[in-house]
Amino acid sequence: MPTNPYGWLEKSLDSIHRANWYRSVKTIDRLSGSTVILDGHEVINFASNDYLGLATDTRLIQAAIAATKKYGTGSTGSRLLSGHRDLHQELEKAIANLKQTEDALVFSSGYLANLGTISALVGQKDLILGDKYNHSSLKKGAKLSGATILEYSHNDIQNLATLLDSFRSKYRRCLITTDSVFSMDGDLCPLPELLSLAEDFNSLLLVDEAHATGVMGKTGAGCVEHFGCTGKELIQIGTLSKALGSLGGYVASSSTLIDFLRNRAATWIYTTGLSPADTAAALCAIDLIRTEPQRREKLWHNVDYLQQELSGLNLLPSQSPIICLKLPSPKTALHKAQQLQTAGIFVPAIRPPTVPTSRLRISVMATHQPEHLQKLVAVIKSKA
Ligand SMILES: *Cc1c(COP(=O)(O)O)cnc(C)c1O
Repeated sequence: MPTNPYGWLEKSLDSIHRANWYRSVKTIDRLSGSTVILDGHEVINFASNDYLGLATDTRLIQAAIAATKKYGTGSTGSRLLSGHRDLHQELEKAIANLKQTEDALVFSSGYLANLGTISALVGQKDLILGDKYNHSSLKKGAKLSGATILEYSHNDIQNLATLLDSFRSKYRRCLITTDSVFSMDGDLCPLPELLSLAEDFNSLLLVDEAHATGVMGKTGAGCVEHFGCTGKELIQIGTLSKALGSLGGYVASSSTLIDFLRNRAATWIYTTGLSPADTAAALCAIDLIRTEPQRREKLWHNVDYLQQELSGLNLLPSQSPIICLKLPSPKTALHKAQQLQTAGIFVPAIRPPTVPTSRLRISVMATHQPEHLQKLVAVIKSKA
């Protein structure tokens, strides 16, 4: 018998180090905007999901403070017991209004929204077909459900159609899952084609709008709006923690589906309601998404500029504010990220096992200034 049941942990960490897969946290001081203090030095921030710069907006901060004063710091219970406030309902109405759906339900995070929704909707008799590049929360939600899981090649409608044709009839329900903006690549799912396949094969369709809400579509409603699919029957998941600058997740869909989730989604029923501060900040953000479209315009202006300036390089195809520069190995990705950080620019290296191939992942914000973008381009293009 081995003497220490925890002994394998160090060995396991050693092999993570050897593969250049090791990660650790980085500390950011003070407000996190388009520039941040990282490890004590000011750097331009291309690592944030705060696309519209709302996480440091004084109106969101004030809304969070006011809600905390009125309701306290915690919501003190699960939503079905003592944790529900009128703020939650207002936020859910505002999300449904933005998405043009009948209803919405707020979870404690986007990750939990996916786990709870997927495992409530399908089970052992059912089939899940998911894009190979789906976010971890969609994949773990699928596992949790106990359904049979098949992955289709990234954005490959033909492959999905073949799988549906071969396997759909063997199962009770079928759920197709996809990111709408792929979080580590920046490309979009072929939503109209997915909707039509879902209809042809009597399948549910769940799209994760985490990186799309507030960013894509004329009113910021997401990729569903971007593709002109508003009002179609589907399940939209999202987060309050990216363009909305707060914390929490949501599902937007028909009132029947939402009512079902309130009765069946374990990650909503058996967890504490979203804090008053997070709820109020998200509510304020949704209002600003509607009333300040100039933020979205500024964001897309910055995206277009960078796409143009970096066009000769080895970029992954992107139609979003996530722009990825392909690199040959984890080591070169880390080296380039370090070189950028030394020059005062924070761009994370994304490596396996998060993604199949290493890359620098640039997140563009509405609040980046022209000189921020110019400096990024100059350092990326410099040799060494
Ligand atoms: C960030 C993200 C999530 C998780 O959202 P959180 O609210 O941060 O838990 C889920 N899905 C996708 C596609 C994401 O990018």
